[in-house]
Amino acid sequence: MLDRAAVDSLFPSDLPETEEWEQRYPARDVPDGAFVTRFGPSPTGFVHIGGIYTAMVSRDLAHSSGGVYYLRIEDTDQAREVAGADAQFARAFDAFDLRPDEGPTSSTGDGGPYAPYRQSERSTIYLSYVRELMRRGRAYPDFATKDELAEISERQRTLKLPTGYYGRWAPWRDADDAEVLRRLEAGDPYVVRLRSEGKVGERVGFTDRLRGRVEAEDNHNDVVILKTSATEPRLPTYHFAHAVDDHLMRTSLVVRGDEWLSSVPTHLQLFAALGFSQVEYAHLAPLMKQEGSSRRKLSKRKDAEASVDFYLEAGYPTPAVLAYLRGLANSPLAELGVPEALTTPLRLDEFQSAGPLVDTVKLADICADHVATLPAPEVLAGVRAWARTYDPELVEVLDEHEALALAAIDVERVGVENPRKDLARWSDFRTAYGFFFPALFTDVTDPADERFGGLAPEIVYALAADLAAVYTHEGDQPTWFQQIRDLAERHGFAPNPKTYKKDPDAYAGMLRDAANVVRVLVTGAQRSPDLYEVTRVLGAEEVVRRLEALERP
Ligand code: GLU
Repeated sequence: MLDRAAVDSLFPSDLPETEEWEQRYPARDVPDGAFVTRFGPSPTGFVHIGGIYTAMVSRDLAHSSGGVYYLRIEDTDQAREVAGADAQFARAFDAFDLRPDEGPTSSTGDGGPYAPYRQSERSTIYLSYVRELMRRGRAYPDFATKDELAEISERQRTLKLPTGYYGRWAPWRDADDAEVLRRLEAGDPYVVRLRSEGKVGERVGFTDRLRGRVEAEDNHNDVVILKTSATEPRLPTYHFAHAVDDHLMRTSLVVRGDEWLSSVPTHLQLFAALGFSQVEYAHLAPLMKQEGSSRRKLSKRKDAEASVDFYLEAGYPTPAVLAYLRGLANSPLAELGVPEALTTPLRLDEFQSAGPLVDTVKLADICADHVATLPAPEVLAGVRAWARTYDPELVEVLDEHEALALAAIDVERVGVENPRKDLARWSDFRTAYGFFFPALFTDVTDPADERFGGLAPEIVYALAADLAAVYTHEGDQPTWFQQIRDLAERHGFAPNPKTYKKDPDAYAGMLRDAANVVRVLVTGAQRSPDLYEVTRVLGAEEVVRRLEALERP
């Protein structure tokens, strides 16, 4: 074991002692039983919906217990780092109303009582703890090259032994001090490894707040804690940064994906070696996707809906998406309406150990149900906010015709038993409501258009011209519709299917075929909300204008 002077010579002479950090970052002043949680994304340029799920759970558990939720950017893997990743997180947290209390995207920005909140800016802190472990002989320098490491694993495989850097397979674990000093003096690059006390084949138990008692194979590897000395700044591995940061930032509950569950034995050893009191863990099962009869993890590579951008670009109302995610976390919340699902605290004992299924069809239903409950001004605000980024032309139209927009949104929504549910995503607005706006409506001009259902162009034209000439806008729905009945009759359409079927050759078609011509001319589609109500919103002049847009065959 290297003596203290030799260890200290490897570090800057002004490197603070660990006690200084302990004092700088004291225990948090939170009520008993309150959770201090965090979200620790790596800035790789992709915000996974699973990240939003984890952040949401973390934040909820902290806030409902009177604790604190903070964001820590885990950027020690600088090779994977992508510029602008912070802004992407900020945008996603804003959209889903998941801003942290502390950390880079909070209102205090990079500042805060436990700053810095970026691992790349905490390198000095890690070094103090590495030095401490080395002074105590709990960590040591390792000069093994890539090739040497590969050779060790190869030999272990041949002998059918567990691979890794441990015991007699760890050449630098008990190396001669003289040899170590010689290599250090020569300036050979090295990493620092933990001297693990775990034995091959031993098991370890721990309690996960979501999974209960977990038993796993203990870690026997002398894991790397500080990456190569060949590059500056010297950065820790994820494992080491996790232990130091969650200790110093006074996290009490680590909420993270269950891909980290198998690392817990290593983390327990690190906490113990560092003399830290243990944090609690809650490992979340991953979001899944149904594929045929099997389920697999939602994949960034294969599934568009794995990306947060998928939800933002399509304009799924974010409160409904969040409520959906909360229902995935705690199934009783899936039974609640969106506002209740958003405000009912999550419970650790309601999480399932199987990964919940993300079903975008179900999500769209929830969104449509939710939008159906919103007053028109809120719907309009949602569409506008989305369109500002994704459909600027629509914003202009909405700004110019606000009253029309509000009236259009309220068609078949107010005072009816089954309100319309044709808006699941804000991007559906153009398709479902665009026809109300002259600027977004394309006049139907061709009497042979297939939307007229194969009626002879002459008949289509005659119907339109006749109605335009005699059109009466006033009156209640039955009065208004009577003019369509009369129109159909004048042009030889049977009043109902029964009459028509008795003698098809005697008629041009049925009332509904004639009514369809009017509907297509007024709305551009064969299906639309109640036509009478639509005409109330459009006004007589615009209705007649649309009827007259048809060209003579
Ligand atoms: N930076 C880790 C990741 O990207 C976070 C793991 C953790 O929350 O401890 O998955």
